[in-house]
Amino acid sequence: MIQSKNMKWYLAALLLVLLLAQAGCKKEHEKKHWGYTGDTAPAYWYNLDPAYAIAKDGKAQSPVNIVTADLTAEGPAKPEFHYQAVKFEVENNGHTIEGLPEHGAENYIILDKERYNLQQFHFHAASEHQINGKETPMEVHLVHKTAAGGLAVVGILIEAGKENAGLKELFAKMPAKEHSKNNLDGEINLADLLTGTKEIYRYDGSLTTPPCSEGVKWSLSAQTIELSKEQINAFKGIYNGNNRPVQSLYERKIYIAK
Ligand SMILES: [Zn+2]
Repeated sequence: MIQSKNMKWYLAALLLVLLLAQAGCKKEHEKKHWGYTGDTAPAYWYNLDPAYAIAKDGKAQSPVNIVTADLTAEGPAKPEFHYQAVKFEVENNGHTIEGLPEHGAENYIILDKERYNLQQFHFHAASEHQINGKETPMEVHLVHKTAAGGLAVVGILIEAGKENAGLKELFAKMPAKEHSKNNLDGEINLADLLTGTKEIYRYDGSLTTPPCSEGVKWSLSAQTIELSKEQINAFKGIYNGNNRPVQSLYERKIYIAK
């Protein structure tokens, strides 16, 4: 009888140890998951993985609020855009909707005398950057990379207005299901997004998603573009609130390049 009672305690203890070990494994596995709400929201990203520490400790984080009265006129030049119409795939990557070029190297920018090839473009709702404390319904990020891995992102704030014809097929074919892709029949020329751009705000920042690495050269169009309410709602039906809040500027300057 006593032995059987001991055995019960032993088994109960063993079960407890196994459950705790499993919970530990689960926690380990979930460590790198990040999002925009609850305990994986932007305010906690730094705590989800040691590799994300810069999200809190960094002094050059993105996005930022651009105060037009505080801009510095003398500074780096605008990027030179070398975009042309190519085919894209549209992917839901679990955090946003992304356009992936079939031939990334055919689309590039020259920034500070270096060539950055287009990797992908994607969207945030609402906008991540603010101009004079104001956000817009959406923002598009065109992500570029040098052969050595240097990053440059071109951002454009999006307002509600006319339908964007160039992105019509992409917005119609955005996959609602995470980690799925659709091919687009037509081509997209990203130069169409920049026809109204006159000035560009330039500053040194970071990725706006984990690992929030710094050393990213940001070029934000001072002019907004338009998408129709239907297009904005189509994106928001899949991702609404995938925007990191604005970060402190610290010692950084924002330059206006004309
Ligand atoms: Zn982005």
